[in-house]
Amino acid sequence: MTTNIDQLIERYPLVKDLTELKECAWFNPSITNLKHALPYVRMDSKDILDASQRLSRFASYLVQAFPETAKTNGIIESDLVEIASMKALVGHENGTKISGRLLLKKDSHLPISGSIKARGGIYEVLTHAERLAMEAGLLTESDDYSKLFDQKFRDFFKQYSIAVGSTGNLGMSIGIMSAKLGFSVSVHMSADAREWKKNTLRSHGVNVIEYQQDYGVAVAQGRKEAQNDPRCFFIDDENSPTLFLGYSVAGERLRKQFDEKGILVDAHHPLFVYLPCGVGGGPGGVAFGLKMAFGDHVHCIFAEPTHSPSMMLGVYTGLHDNISVQDIGIDNITAADGLAVGRASGFVGRAMERLIDGYFTITDKRMFRLLGQLNQYEDIQLEPSALAGMLGPIVVTNASDYRERMQFDDTVMSRATHLVWATGGGMVPEAEMSSYLESSGI
Ligand SMILES: *Cc1c(COP(=O)(O)O)cnc(C)c1O
Repeated sequence: MTTNIDQLIERYPLVKDLTELKECAWFNPSITNLKHALPYVRMDSKDILDASQRLSRFASYLVQAFPETAKTNGIIESDLVEIASMKALVGHENGTKISGRLLLKKDSHLPISGSIKARGGIYEVLTHAERLAMEAGLLTESDDYSKLFDQKFRDFFKQYSIAVGSTGNLGMSIGIMSAKLGFSVSVHMSADAREWKKNTLRSHGVNVIEYQQDYGVAVAQGRKEAQNDPRCFFIDDENSPTLFLGYSVAGERLRKQFDEKGILVDAHHPLFVYLPCGVGGGPGGVAFGLKMAFGDHVHCIFAEPTHSPSMMLGVYTGLHDNISVQDIGIDNITAADGLAVGRASGFVGRAMERLIDGYFTITDKRMFRLLGQLNQYEDIQLEPSALAGMLGPIVVTNASDYRERMQFDDTVMSRATHLVWATGGGMVPEAEMSSYLESSGI
């Protein structure tokens, strides 16, 4: 679309800050409670349960195919850790104090692909494989799915192919999982995708197709390839309810981890969750699962790079996927893998806008600095995008209008839990991590 930027700014003043690449925040005054918002999502707890049960059925297969999942019995789940030193440091650096406690959800260290994409991406491949095998009469729900590891099944899946467009991590999840099952798989990689991710995929026998353009172009090409081949299944990151549900299972699992740690979430003990957002499926699906697990007491806030604020732009202007950051003169160039998305998912934005409290942007420079600090103070190594949420507790602390509207006074805030969702980094090669740390200036 062609947008008259000046007119847009007149109606939506924050767009000016976005065009100037300033760090900014917007808390949506139109959020509603879960009861009113749920009909717009068009999915409910039954769908999450179905996804959860499907993942349980595949657990015995995953233990066989990926022995690193044995210690969680084939369930792909990450640790939850407290980062108290980081809490003190981030508060101090920003001239304030973070009230309540600060936790990190280490999806960065999920098995198989080392990012949040090990939730949605793998789930969609498994769903597709199950459907094909059942339609062919080779599998029923009551079977022990470890039989999918037999050569017979790999030969069966070999007749089918899977295609996906990716900035890196989605391709890693879908590529590795699909190749393991036996599928022929093509990953269409945008220009910003790291070389090591392409090499890792090639070593798994994945067909990597490289583009000089951004994510939008890679996705469009992947979709086109699949259209010409009835045996090819295209995984559509921009519009997939299946991916979304794969992510949503995180909610009930986190709830269990909170119960085990005795962390209370209720009207007097709010939970703030900071989620890095690219196209929106990951953070949107996780946020949906969190809402279903914790109800109105969880508050989800999305974080995006100043160069790629596509979800904030889409929801704030109400234009969703009818506007891109390029339309307002932003280049969509960031070192934050997975977040370099110029046009957010319209499906996720429209489904979830009433349930997402706010959005903020963060510079690459600050992500790198936080990366270095987390390494130094907590000995945890992440990729830059996974640090996007780390500024969240500061953004909420400083958002006095939002806190007043939500009645989060100092007493409530002192009982709050802040959770930063660390979305990637577990598989970054050592040399690459060293260069990240060097760039951090810490
Ligand atoms: C993909 C990704 C995200 C965001 O997920 P979307 O579904 O694209 O919004 C965040 N962090 C990392 C590391 C990712 O790979």
